[in-house]
Amino acid sequence: MTVPVFRFAPSSNGALHLGHAYSALLNHSMARLAEGRFLLRIEDIDTTRCSPELEAGIYRDLAWLGVVWEEPVRRQSEHFEDYAEALERLADAEIVYPSFMSRGEMRACIADMEAGGTPWPRDPDGAPLFPSVDKRRPKAERRRRIEEGEPFAWRLDMEAARAHVARPFFWEESGSGPKGETGRIAARPEDWGDVVIARKEVPTSYHLAVVVDDALQGVTHVVRGRDLFHATAVHRLLQELLGLPVPRYHHHALIVDEDGRKLSKSRGDTGIAALREAGATPGDIARMVGLEWPS
Ligand code: GLU
Repeated sequence: MTVPVFRFAPSSNGALHLGHAYSALLNHSMARLAEGRFLLRIEDIDTTRCSPELEAGIYRDLAWLGVVWEEPVRRQSEHFEDYAEALERLADAEIVYPSFMSRGEMRACIADMEAGGTPWPRDPDGAPLFPSVDKRRPKAERRRRIEEGEPFAWRLDMEAARAHVARPFFWEESGSGPKGETGRIAARPEDWGDVVIARKEVPTSYHLAVVVDDALQGVTHVVRGRDLFHATAVHRLLQELLGLPVPRYHHHALIVDEDGRKLSKSRGDTGIAALREAGATPGDIARMVGLEWPS
């Protein structure tokens, strides 16, 4: 029998708050119940916002909460070559292209198209889909602009990528999506349009790194917040394109503040370290997020 592998994968660009504590404790107890392994992964591809101090804070908070993880911890910034290799495979298949449009140019372009009265399509997070202007640029122009050092991002050509995987594909959801979706979920990556797959300086984006790492680490169970439910469609597409194994997914409820808003890293009052310093115990934290203690 294969041993189930769970992982908690925080970004080290801020301190952990109650939402992270819930996710980590739930993950950890699900791993224990399944007699599985529990891994910790530090998602620090954004090297400008992530820091060793924030990372040390994550270890301190998790250890204090009683979470036990395997060493060594995988730190994404140390594995750029793995993502570069995956990116190259997508580039070889001609399903990624460099996009040069700045945010401002993109906004103007969409405003232009909406001037006719038809609203421009939005992705599941509410952001406008990327217009196809850059996708249509001739190869010679792309090459010239890259050589001239212009900023750009690699985007997935969703139409071409979808054509590569013509059959429908699914994921097994044991938690639920925002509308209670559960069980076998049909992936609709096209709802996201041409997502960013890598940046000029960093050979990956969140989507690419997460699927590459889950595969390399043998992750069988992804337990994470419901805010990533729809993004799973993009992850499933990348797994199909790269021939990677498919974990099971469990999207859990998000911990919200008194106003019903998702907790943010900048709000100190729900930070684990702040609560600890104010005298809270790990058991208090577990109760605050609605979990049994010991979890
Ligand atoms: N690093 C992501 C976050 O902190 C989570 C990624 C995942 O669990 O797939 O929101």
